Amino acid sequence: MDIVQLLRQRVVVFDGPYGTELQQRGLPGGEPPETWILQKPEEVIAIHVSYLEAGPDVIHTNTFGANRIRLSRFGLGEQVQEINRKAVALAREAIRRTGRAEVIVEGNIGPTGELLEPLGDLTSEAALEAFTEQAQALAEAGADFLHVKTMTSLEEALLALKAALGTGLPVIVSMAYHLSHKGAFTMMGVEAGKAVETFEREGASAVGANCEVQIQEMVEIVKAMRGRTSLPIVAQPNGGKPTLQEGTIVYPETPESFTSHVPALIEAGANAVGACCGARPSFIRMVVESVGKR
Ligand SMILES: [Zn+2]
Repeated sequence: MDIVQLLRQRVVVFDGPYGTELQQRGLPGGEPPETWILQKPEEVIAIHVSYLEAGPDVIHTNTFGANRIRLSRFGLGEQVQEINRKAVALAREAIRRTGRAEVIVEGNIGPTGELLEPLGDLTSEAALEAFTEQAQALAEAGADFLHVKTMTSLEEALLALKAALGTGLPVIVSMAYHLSHKGAFTMMGVEAGKAVETFEREGASAVGANCEVQIQEMVEIVKAMRGRTSLPIVAQPNGGKPTLQEGTIVYPETPESFTSHVPALIEAGANAVGACCGARPSFIRMVVESVGKR
């Protein structure tokens, strides 16, 4: 099934985060999650499997930081192609092992981690080139659609969207918004309504919000987006508010409390529900049950 068709038909369930899952399995803090695609592929497959067993419609590749600009910081700049291709293969392998052939594979594209000119040194050309390289590798390896995610800069999100559309695949664009008394904004000051209008005009198949907030706040962010676009909305809030306990970051939310807000999220206008940092496969399992009961 095509992701665009499915989003128009019913509430779709996406999966949850990989970074925090990999850390649970021993990925050292500060090391990019993409290193395990090459070094410990079985661990990545195991996380895909744990999500697949929870029952979502979509799983994503572990490629949040797999663009040349970000990978170069870790000496992996020459392995962009290999990492993105293998990431899609690992997701497909997990689908094969669980027999869930109907599951859709999202190729995940995150930010470069650098600031565009004039705020920083990154040129638009360099960013577009890096996003194009990653998008093409994900598409050629067989991703079903691309999801530009966790963006905070509108310019950078638009460059990634342009690169992703160049593959011919459907593209979803999600930004990381927080709530203030003035509305929903990214860290860089991009207003959610303005962002979704822009992405719709520029050819996105759906828009979304991910990371940054817990699910209660995501309900308000989705409302702010819903009034400004006719596109499907994908909502992927964090698994609670991170708190520091004895030097480690803990997300205290339970799958039950998270899922109790899912009906409100759908009422607000979300067409798809998934999760971000701190959520676990157990959260997705309950979301699948909750959505199925509707
Ligand atoms: Zn996140």
